[in-house]
Amino acid sequence: MPAEIISGTKVAASIREELKEKVTEIKAKKGITPGLAMVRVGEDPGSVSYVSAKSKASEQLGIHSQTIVYPIDATEAEVLAKVEELNRDPKFHGILVQLPLPKHIDSDKILNTIDPRKDVDGFHPVNVGRLLIGEPYFMPCTPHGVQELLIRSGNSPEGKHVVICGRSNIVGKPVMAILMQKKKGANATVTVVHTGTKDMASITRQADILIAAMGRPKAITADMVKEGVVVIDVGVNQVGTTAEGKRILVGDSDFEGIKEKAKAITPVPGGVGPMTVTMLMANTVRAADMQSA
Ligand code: NAP
Repeated sequence: MPAEIISGTKVAASIREELKEKVTEIKAKKGITPGLAMVRVGEDPGSVSYVSAKSKASEQLGIHSQTIVYPIDATEAEVLAKVEELNRDPKFHGILVQLPLPKHIDSDKILNTIDPRKDVDGFHPVNVGRLLIGEPYFMPCTPHGVQELLIRSGNSPEGKHVVICGRSNIVGKPVMAILMQKKKGANATVTVVHTGTKDMASITRQADILIAAMGRPKAITADMVKEGVVVIDVGVNQVGTTAEGKRILVGDSDFEGIKEKAKAITPVPGGVGPMTVTMLMANTVRAADMQSA
């Protein structure tokens, strides 16, 4: 039987409905409006479009958001000073600095200046460490989205063998840290594979749940998974452009081949992608809640 297609668009929409209610509740009970400040430097088209999507999502949920835009030649000191000012500003519960920053600005220095309690991207080393010990202020958005997709599609990772393909700091490692915790919605046996892994297919074939996060178009093929696997495909790879100039995107797994064998699989686009912005909104609401406790 062909796999169930896990729609990230649908799951994200239902989480946003819950968040809308939570925002209304925070406004009524605590008299505050969750606030998100975003800092963008330069006019990189990707950054412009990501920040605008985050700003639109905030507006739809009743979250106050403001984008501070600097020209490409802004100095590191200027951006640092702004982050420090935002750390002190009680109107903003979450702060996000859109990456990539221009080369003359040290991204780590900027990100490490954000107050960990306002670090809604979850990239600050304090949050990375807290995630590992199971006490996160915030979980990074895409990895948290992966966990929510599994839970809400009825494929809880508890007791399962999860194989994660990729060990980046923004996807592979945090997904590992989330899913291996002794907690509800986690408690999985986790294996992480990467370019140093020998005979990767022999490991991916053992996966009850396979998370693909390599940035390699269709690298996971049907012969590399077992019957009944659940595949969460984080990869987003542009493989061409349509005649109308639209980007053609594929994931890291061969969707067409695997869907005949899998129990469930996420599509690309429409799988993990819509979850990322939604989990950022969830973190902003959590930040407001935490800071007004
Ligand atoms: P990354 O930093 O390039 O890391 C890729 C990881 O995959 C590395 O650990 C690398 O191993 C491993 N890898 C690459 N090729 C491999 C192969 N042939 N066999 C085994 N392992 C391999 O990428 P990333 O930032 O984690 O992103 C991964 C994908 O997710 C990209 O397509 C990205 O666009 C997408 N993404 C999507 C979202 C979303 O919201 N949907 C968010 C973030 C990222 P080594 O460590 O050994 O080099």
